[in-house]
Amino acid sequence: MTALDEQRALVAEGCRVAAARGLVDGILGHLSLRVDDERLLIRCRSDTDAGVAHTRPGDIRLITFAGGAGAAGELDGYRVPNELPIHVETMLADARHRAVAHLHPPAVVAADLAGIAIRPIYGAFDIPGARLARAGVPVYERAVLIRTPALGKEMVAAMRDRPVVILRGHGITSAAATVQQAVLQAISLDALARMSLRVRAAGGTLREIDDADWDDLPDLGPAFTAEAAWRHEVARLPAE
Ligand SMILES: [Zn+2]
Repeated sequence: MTALDEQRALVAEGCRVAAARGLVDGILGHLSLRVDDERLLIRCRSDTDAGVAHTRPGDIRLITFAGGAGAAGELDGYRVPNELPIHVETMLADARHRAVAHLHPPAVVAADLAGIAIRPIYGAFDIPGARLARAGVPVYERAVLIRTPALGKEMVAAMRDRPVVILRGHGITSAAATVQQAVLQAISLDALARMSLRVRAAGGTLREIDDADWDDLPDLGPAFTAEAAWRHEVARLPAE
């Protein structure tokens, strides 16, 4: 396997993990990975597309930032997502954003529409999620299809240098240095939204954890928070 093939397989795996966690339904949602200064790998659609949950490495195509084929034959039989500007503008805005996940998690959309801001309502339940919430999760307030560079830039501005942004009435964008991190932080955001909705549904009030507790909510490092978590996500995938 070439390095590019390995990256295609990883992006496809990320798509299947996101779908298995209910962060996308049907055929909507896509992941990408920056390859160099001009090109990225992105989940494309074809006439044999069976949905994001069934993404194959071959569905991940090499394209240019302008949306053309990144090498001969890359777009034969494949179509680039309409919302390519989400990926390109997020990557261009910050060199650390090599991987971008655009997903439609219903719980995150519902929590935002219910007027619930994502806050650190728990701690050791999910430390990466708590830390993500503590620093704030911004909202892009438009429900539009982000299919132009201008709209992509508007979304990036709303992101305010945070790794995730909620797109009102639409979904989320999650950006990171790796595919695994982009998907894992989307899973954490979804868990925060689900718990917030659950507490509200039980008649409770959402309260942030005590400030004093942060001293004992350490960053446990990538070996625990990303590598082990990713192994689990892959292991729980349904057999294809
Ligand atoms: Zn979308």
